[in-house]
Formats: sequence, structure tokens, C-alpha cells
Amino acid sequence: MDVKQAVSRRGFVGGVTGALGLLTLDPRKLLSQGVSQAVRPQRATVDEYDLLAKLANNENPYGPPESVLKAMTNAFKYANRYGYPDGGIVDAIAKHHGVPPENVMLGAGSGEILDVVGTAFLMDDKKIVGPDVSYDVLYQHVTALKADQIKVPLLPDFRQDIPGMIAAVRDNYRDVGFVYLCSPNNPTGRIVTKQEVAQLLDAIPSDVPVLIDEAYFHFVDDPNYATAVPYVLQGRQVIVARTFSKISALAGMRLGYAIAPRGLLQRMRPYSSGSINAIVKWGGVAALADTTSQSWVKKTTLALRAKTGAELTAHGYAVVPSDANFFLVHVRRPVQPVISEFRKKGVLVGRPFAGLPEHIRVSIGTADEMDRFVAAFKEILPAGKAVGGG
Ligand code: PLP
Repeated sequence: MDVKQAVSRRGFVGGVTGALGLLTLDPRKLLSQGVSQAVRPQRATVDEYDLLAKLANNENPYGPPESVLKAMTNAFKYANRYGYPDGGIVDAIAKHHGVPPENVMLGAGSGEILDVVGTAFLMDDKKIVGPDVSYDVLYQHVTALKADQIKVPLLPDFRQDIPGMIAAVRDNYRDVGFVYLCSPNNPTGRIVTKQEVAQLLDAIPSDVPVLIDEAYFHFVDDPNYATAVPYVLQGRQVIVARTFSKISALAGMRLGYAIAPRGLLQRMRPYSSGSINAIVKWGGVAALADTTSQSWVKKTTLALRAKTGAELTAHGYAVVPSDANFFLVHVRRPVQPVISEFRKKGVLVGRPFAGLPEHIRVSIGTADEMDRFVAAFKEILPAGKAVGGG
């Protein structure tokens, strides 16, 4: 088995070794130890990890705020329990969105929600309709399910092709298990506008579920953007996926959720693990309440995104306009060697994406990390003249 395929991107191991190009792995050594490569990829040491500028996984570099750390610390006393008080996390999420608690389902990260939707709605040879390029971890799950994928290429400006997706659904109506929209999209950072969401929902048969992945919702400033949660209240077959991993800095703690009509959640629940830890449930409640911290993260991230983008543009490289905590930059050469050069300089940038052979994805880290990234960029990539919009 290809080691790269075997490593999950989501865990610490995947995040580090994936971004390191797995150069730290010595498969012969692993095999001589009788250890399957698929099971035991080598981890970066703690010291190595701490020194890296971690711009590979769209994480929040600041960590959870004091309020959240305090709530989680207090919850440690439940670490030995199953029937612990959970801080009212489902009610808190329901209240936050103005929906009844029966419309909320927790997941161990929104990644679990995506997997559960895939498993629940792609049975009986159903197909997913979704954008290409998009969040590849979902498509990997769909591949593992052996379900067909109808992938609609992005438009030349990297936006999702809504008329193309509508046509794909109509042409395959009986076979479509669900439609996937990712807004802002990973890895492009581009949104689907609220008008486009309405256009899609109005044009496809009303019984086709639409999964709208709003993992990066909190970083958007565009007035044409809005959450799709109101459609759930209208009874539309819409599932909104959200995460505490990004704006709330709880990626390693694993908490996400779906907002969806009761009927869809009933079909999904049998496939969910229900394994969310006691500590992050309390952390999630505190995170929802800490709007000051969220505003600070958003403001700081957007300012660094603008500054870094301007520096790269001035150096002669086109940046795709982004509404998320990451962006694509066109390096005008194959990405893998460039990613490796960054790694040698202690900077982790995003993995290669099929269909984007000359773009690297860069997450917005701290000011210091972004300075290190720009300095490395200028050493690796000669000054030039940007061509086109990215
Ligand atoms: N959706 C998108 C678009 C993502 O980029 C990610 C993670 O990077 C996820 C979902 C899953 O995040 P998590 O499982 O940490 O909530």
C-alpha cells in the first residue's frame, strides 16, 4: 500500500508527515521492525514539531482562549465517567443557531459528520455530486465506500460551478445520494454566495440532500455570504456542517456538528460513533460564548492574509482571493519540490491537490510564522511577474 494513501491527513501524524512529504519515513526500517507502514508511520519528535512553522492544515495557531481552557480544565474531573454532565453542548449549539436541539447532531470533528453523511446517503449505489477541487478527505471516504463521484470542475476563477452542479444533479437525479458544497471551499478559499445556494436549491429536486460544509464560515467578510442554517428551519433537505477546529482552535480535541432536519439526522445517527470526549463538550460551550476571542482571531487572520498576499503579489506571484484562513498561491512550477524546499527551511505548507499542479495552499499562521514563510518563499522562488489572477 502507498504510505501516502494510508496516512490520514487529520491526525497529528498525517498533518506532520504529510506536510513533510514523508521524508522522515524509512519504510525499510519500519518493515524490518515488522511494523506495517500503514499502521505505524513515524512521527516528528515533539521538538521538531514545535519548531516548524505549521502552515499546512488550516489550523488556528493561537490555541484555545483562556475561557475555553478553563472550562476544559474544570471538566477533567469527568475523565473517568460515561454519564457525566456535558455542559449542555447540544442546547448551546441549538440556541446559537436558533434551531431546536433535535436539529443538532454532534461529531468528533466535522470530518465525522462528512463521513456519516457519505455513509448514510451513498448506500444503494448512490453518487455524490460535488466540486472538483474540494475537500479531498470527503472524497477519499467516498472512494473507500466504493461510491461513484460526479465531480464538477471549478470555474476558471476557482469558484464552484453552480449551474454545472445543477445540470449534474438533474442529469443523474435518481442516482444522486447527496450534493456537496464547500463554502468557503478548501483548498481554494472561495465562497458559494447565498444567491448561488438559493439558485441550486431552487433548481434541483427538493428531495436531494445538500451537504453544505461551513468549516471556514467564521473567516468570511463578504456580504453575499450567509449560513445555510435557515434552510433547515424551512424544512429543506440541507445539512450544514460546522467545526470547532478552526475559529475555536480545538482541532486536536475533535468537535463538530451538523444542523439538519430531524428526518435526515435520523438516517445519519446509526453511523455516528457518538464518541466525543467530555472535556471538549465543555470547551465547545465556552467557545461559543467567547465571541471576543473569535473576533480577535478573525481580525488578526484577515490582516495577516492581506499582508502576506500583498507581499507575494509584489514578489510576482498571483494569489487566489480567499475568504478563509488559508490561500492558494500560483508558484508556476510543480508543487512537490517547492513543498519540500519549504520543509527544509522549517516551514510546512499544504499538501499537493490533484488538479492544482502549480498552486500551493498556505494556512495563515502567526505573524512570526508568516514572516518566516515569506522569507522562505523569496529564497525558494525568484522574483517574477504575476500572470493572471492566480
Ligand atoms: N471540512 C473542511 C472543508 C475542512 O477543511 C476540514 C478540515 O480541515 C474539515 C471539514 C474537518 O475538520 P474537523 O474534522 O477538524 O472538524
